[in-house]
Amino acid sequence: MHFTKTLGFCKDLETKYKEKLYRMNNKVILNLLFKTHVKQTSINPPPFLYKVPFDYETINADILNKVLTNNNIFNIFCKKCYEEFLKIPNITEGSVHINPYVWTNFAVQTIKSFCEKQEKNEIAFPNGCCNMSSTCSINLYYNVVLNALKKL
Ligand SMILES: [Zn+2]
Repeated sequence: MHFTKTLGFCKDLETKYKEKLYRMNNKVILNLLFKTHVKQTSINPPPFLYKVPFDYETINADILNKVLTNNNIFNIFCKKCYEEFLKIPNITEGSVHINPYVWTNFAVQTIKSFCEKQEKNEIAFPNGCCNMSSTCSINLYYNVVLNALKKL
């Protein structure tokens, strides 16, 4: 191989290697963030609350109950919500992408407890990430789950 060609080949390898390393580091960081977010979200009270208008009477209690009590239905429901979530434009990869099941569980447990309280004004979802209410991907996901449980 000609020297400059060899050099070009090396540059290609280097770029590919750097890209791979970047993706690997990115995954490691995302996983660490995910663990932190889950831990913080589980704290009582959580560091942040995402408040949304809520009326328990708009919730389809039948579907909510099935999601809460049947693992298969929970999984199907979660998949459906996650697909909906991915359609939202310009979402940066974050904790929801790592494991949507965990966030579905946080969402449905919160909705359940506010239904039990017969809340008619506002729901407050736990958030261990940030208080950027309308841009945080966790909150965007909570919205998807909440809408999926509303009566048609
Ligand atoms: Zn956030």
